[in-house]
Amino acid sequence: MNGPTHHALFLHGPYDARLAPYTLRDGRPGETLLDVAAVGLCGSDLHYFKDGGIGAATIAQPFVPGHEFCGRLTCDDPELGLSRGTLVAVDPNKACGHCEYCERGHPNLCPNVEFIGAPPFDGAMTEQIWVPKSQVVPLPPHFTPLDGVMLEPLGVAIHAVDLAKPRLLERVALIGLGPIGLLILQVLKVAGAGEILAVDPQEHRRDLALRLGTTAVGASVEDIRGWTRNEGCPLVIEATNAPEGFRDAVRAAKIGGRAVLVGIPDGDVYTMPAAEARRRGLKIKFARRMGEVYPRAIALVEKRLVDVASLVSHQVGLDGAAAAFGRHAQNTPGVVKTLIYPSGQ
Ligand SMILES: [Zn+2]
Ligand SMILES: [Zn+2]
Repeated sequence: MNGPTHHALFLHGPYDARLAPYTLRDGRPGETLLDVAAVGLCGSDLHYFKDGGIGAATIAQPFVPGHEFCGRLTCDDPELGLSRGTLVAVDPNKACGHCEYCERGHPNLCPNVEFIGAPPFDGAMTEQIWVPKSQVVPLPPHFTPLDGVMLEPLGVAIHAVDLAKPRLLERVALIGLGPIGLLILQVLKVAGAGEILAVDPQEHRRDLALRLGTTAVGASVEDIRGWTRNEGCPLVIEATNAPEGFRDAVRAAKIGGRAVLVGIPDGDVYTMPAAEARRRGLKIKFARRMGEVYPRAIALVEKRLVDVASLVSHQVGLDGAAAAFGRHAQNTPGVVKTLIYPSGQ
C-alpha cells in the first residue's frame, strides 16, 4: 500500500534538480512521521547537484536531498513522550551501534551508516518524512524551525573544533567563510581561541565574519601570510569547497602546526604541492560529519553564544528549491545559507 502523494525536490544528476510528485513510503517499526518544518541546503547537497555525487557516493537514481532538517510530529508519540505538533530536530546519521568504530565512540565513521539525505537514503526536501525515533532530538520550547535546522551544521562546527583542540588564546587561521566556516568562527570564540584570521573570496561573507567577531578578514591565504609575516598560524581550520583548500590550509600553517580539514573539495580532488605540507611537519586531521554533539549545539543556541539566524540569507518554499541550488552553484553574491520551508513559512 502506498502513502499519500506529496512533492519533493529530486536531484537527477549534475545541474538537474526537479520538483516532482513523491509518494510517501510506509513507515517501518521504530519510525515516526514528521511534517518537515524546514530543511537547509548544505554544501554537501550542492556537491550532489554540481558533481552528481561525492566520491563513490553517486546519484544512481533520482534522489531527494536534505539532511539538515526539523519537523513536527504528525501524531502523539508515547514512546518518545512527545505530542502531536511538537517541533523536533533529527540527527541524520543513523550509525549501526555495534561495529568497531561505533563501539569506539565514532558513530560518524560507521561504515554501516544510514545517512538521511545521502544516496540511496532520501532526505527531507519534501513535505513529510519517516524518521527513526532513535534520531529524534527534542528541542527547547521556544526554538524556531530555523534554530532546529541549524543544529546539524553547528554540530559539524563543534566536531571540527573538538578535533582542532584550540589552546587558550591561540591564534587560528580559518580558511573559508561559508555557513560551516562562520559557525566554526563562533564556536572557536566560545572555546577560548585567540585571534582569528579568516579568509574567503566573497565580500559579503567577509563582512558577515567581521560582524560575527573575527579578528581580521581577507580575500586569500596570502593575507594570512602577510599578517603573520609569513610565519603562519599554529592552528588552521579549513572549511572550503575548493580543490585548493588543503593547499591554502598548509600555507596558512606555522611550522609544526596543526590543520583540520572540514571542507569537501569540488571534483573530490585536492591540489597542492606536497613539499609545502611535508616541510612544515604538519599534523593534519580530517573531519568527518560529527559525533555526539546535539546537546552542546542546543546549549550554544539556547544561551545565544552562537548566532545562527544571521547566516540564513534566503528562505524559500519547496517550489523555490531548484532555483536555490542554481544560486548556490553560481556563488551568487549575498548567498550564505538557504532554508526551504516545504509547507510554507
Ligand atoms: Zn550539512
Ligand atoms: Zn557502526
